[in-house]
Formats: sequence, C-alpha cells, structure tokens
Amino acid sequence: MKKSKTVYADLHTHSTASDGMLTPEQLVEKACSIGLGVIGITDHDSIDGVKAGVAAGARLGVRVVPGIELSCGWEGRDSSVHVLGLFVNPESPALAELLDTQKKSRYTRAHRILDLLGQQGFDMAELAQSFADSPDKVLGRPHLARYLESKGYVKDFQEAFDKYLLRGRPAYVPKDHVEPEKGIEIIHAAGGIAVLAHPGLIPDWDRVWSKIQNMPWDGIETYYSEHSNSDVRRFRAVVESHNWVSTGGSDYHGDYGKHVDRLGQAGLSQEQFGELLEKCAARGVSFF
Ligand SMILES: [Zn+2]
Ligand SMILES: [Zn+2]
Repeated sequence: MKKSKTVYADLHTHSTASDGMLTPEQLVEKACSIGLGVIGITDHDSIDGVKAGVAAGARLGVRVVPGIELSCGWEGRDSSVHVLGLFVNPESPALAELLDTQKKSRYTRAHRILDLLGQQGFDMAELAQSFADSPDKVLGRPHLARYLESKGYVKDFQEAFDKYLLRGRPAYVPKDHVEPEKGIEIIHAAGGIAVLAHPGLIPDWDRVWSKIQNMPWDGIETYYSEHSNSDVRRFRAVVESHNWVSTGGSDYHGDYGKHVDRLGQAGLSQEQFGELLEKCAARGVSFF
C-alpha cells in the first residue's frame, strides 16, 4: 500500500519487547512525531512492552492499543498463521499462562538441541553457560548455528542447519505448536479481538484458509503495508461476507531494511478506527 496521509491508527508494530528496534517509549514518541493518533503495540508472543507504551501514550496524547501477535501453526507449518490480539487486557491470567508455557517450551527445546549437539561430539558448554547466565534470553537455532561456526565445527552458518539443525537431521527437535484456535481462545479470554494478521503474506492461502476459515475470528488485517490494492479488495470482501472487522497496520520493526519509514504507512483512517471501536464494543470488548 502506498503511503497515505489518512492513516490515523497503525495497529501493528513491534518494540524491543520482541524483535523491534525501538523501546515502547521510543515507538510511541515516533508515532506522535509523525502525527498518528493511535498505535497498536503487538509484539511477537510478548505483552511486556504494553505497559510502558500505554504510559508514554498517556503522556504524549497518543492512544496506545494493547496488543500481541501470537505465532500459531500446526505440525509441519511452524508459524504459518499469525494471530493478532487487539484491545487485550495485559494483566490477563490466561494470556500470562500461555506466554509462560511458550517460554518454558522454547527453553526446553533449546536445551534438548544442546544435548543432541553434545552427543555429536561438540563441546557446547560455553554457549550453555552464556544462556544459563541470562535466563530471559531466548536461545534460538541461529545462535546455535553461529556458535558451531565460531568453533569451527561447521564451515558456515548454512552447513550447521543442513547437517544438524533441520528437520530429519540429528539435532532437530520439533516445536510445540499453538494451534490458531487456541490463540484465538486465549485472546478472547483476555478480552480482545482476534484478527488474522497479514493474510496476503500466506503463500498457500487456499490450503491455509480452508483450515482456518471456520474458526471464531473477529476480523482480518485487511490494510497492511505489503498488501496490494487487490489484496485489500479481496480481504475486505471476506470481512464483509463474515460480518467481521477490518484492522490495519504497518508491522513496523524499526528503521532498517524494508522496514524503514514504514510506521504509519498502513492502518485505519480516523473514521475507520471509530467504526472499529463501535464494532468491538458491540462484540463486548472493553477497552483497557
Ligand atoms: Zn506477523
Ligand atoms: Zn508483526
């Protein structure tokens, strides 16, 4: 979508609470400086940035919508469906429990992979120690690949994946999946609306859609920085036929690569945001 002066609410952004480059405060300051009225903070599998964002918004006169982007999927499709939760209660026990389970399962998986690499004869002690020293860090496969490369166990990053880390290789451990239904259920339990994020980025749309279309979605992220005009038309029609809501956002992560200047490039106009609030209220959403 081309930059539009009418964007008032950008309801999809990431802060340092996940993989964004700006702290929640900096994100809200930037939103304020470019004249946005509303910003949704929707970090991947984390609600940690919301509180600071809401406080900054109150100070600067920007409305901050508390949100989250849950990575959902099923066997063989690790995170093919991103479920956006908007207007969620950041204090929701159901949400906290899910995020805690996800954290523990990422931790267990990483350590299982470390063990399997140890069984291949590699000395993983140094990496294991650095992560034991900072338990909040997420030990992902890229860290493991870089470590194997730095130790000279593989010739490069790619070889680490090809020989050890990919499915079917000796140190592969499948992820635990949060099914999209579960993601939607948790967002509802947290009082929010559950929206299918950036459907235009799903490559095998027909297959995925046939699996998810009957789930209790509230809406679709129709307006998105990488959606073409025809995507927007297509998803608007889906929203209308289901009596859902359309949301919109840029998926801003910070000023690098393709994300430069993306904040506020997609979203809802003031009028559309007003309609969204009305429809949410009709769905029983209370606004935090
Ligand atoms: Zn996403
Ligand atoms: Zn995102």
